[in-house]
Amino acid sequence: MNIAIVSGKGGSGKTTIAVNLFSYLKDVRLIDADTEAPNDHLYLPGEDATDTVNKEIPIIDQTLCTKCHACADFCAFNAIVPTKTKMLVFDDLCHDCRGCHLVCQEGAISYKNHPIGTIMTRNIDGKPFLSGTLSIGEQSGNKIISTMKETKSTTKHTIIDGPPGVSCKTVETLDGVDYVILVMEDGLFGLHDADMVVELLNELKIPFGVVLNKAYDHVHVGQNYIQENLLNLLVRIPYDETYQNLSSKGKLLTGEISYQRILDTIIKGVGII
Ligand code: SF4
Ligand code: SF4
Repeated sequence: MNIAIVSGKGGSGKTTIAVNLFSYLKDVRLIDADTEAPNDHLYLPGEDATDTVNKEIPIIDQTLCTKCHACADFCAFNAIVPTKTKMLVFDDLCHDCRGCHLVCQEGAISYKNHPIGTIMTRNIDGKPFLSGTLSIGEQSGNKIISTMKETKSTTKHTIIDGPPGVSCKTVETLDGVDYVILVMEDGLFGLHDADMVVELLNELKIPFGVVLNKAYDHVHVGQNYIQENLLNLLVRIPYDETYQNLSSKGKLLTGEISYQRILDTIIKGVGII
């Protein structure tokens, strides 16, 4: 089963759920797909191996190019711009779709590797953990996310800790998953951002359940939203200083009996067997 964990905004508790669920379950791997700010590794120390991820960007042979503009017309990201004398390629804007190569009738387009980030791999108690990092200045971590997801795995389950918010990286994270855990911080601020994710999940028709996190007894915003929108509430986690203190020190919560009960409830609600 492939399970993505997402949130409307950073700081909702998505990472806490991801690393503790990974630690608690057997036969599972974890992918940290929050490539602009990966932090699952802080909770899961160990030896690691690192591989570079490249994107392929076009090189145009100006001696073969007839300046027909087909490549520039095709490129949805405006990465190829015609000038009076040549076709210019803006590496940073290229999304590595290889479409320009297909539309060029002159065979003028080849590709070169351009490093965009890294994938770190660790073995945590016999379970694979992958974490992607986008290099500073690069535009898109989609290739890093898809490369990690395509990495062969023999585990029964994969947990993908996705980026916060709604972006093309979120869509890449959600591609092909069986279930989504939406971690929502209780309160108006958390609700606004989570609502956009709910809209996206409904659009993509992916089954999901909500973890209502950092919930206070006197705040009913999240609970009301879940009821009004007929969402599946997996579990409500009350705000707890103990959890916050342990997490802020990079500790897992799986040793806490009360947190084990929370994880058991999530596992049951998602249907992980
Ligand atoms: S499609 Fe090929 S021939 Fe046409 S402008 Fe682009 S590189 Fe040149
Ligand atoms: S590979 Fe795709 S995104 Fe990159 S320049 Fe060509 S058409 Fe544009």
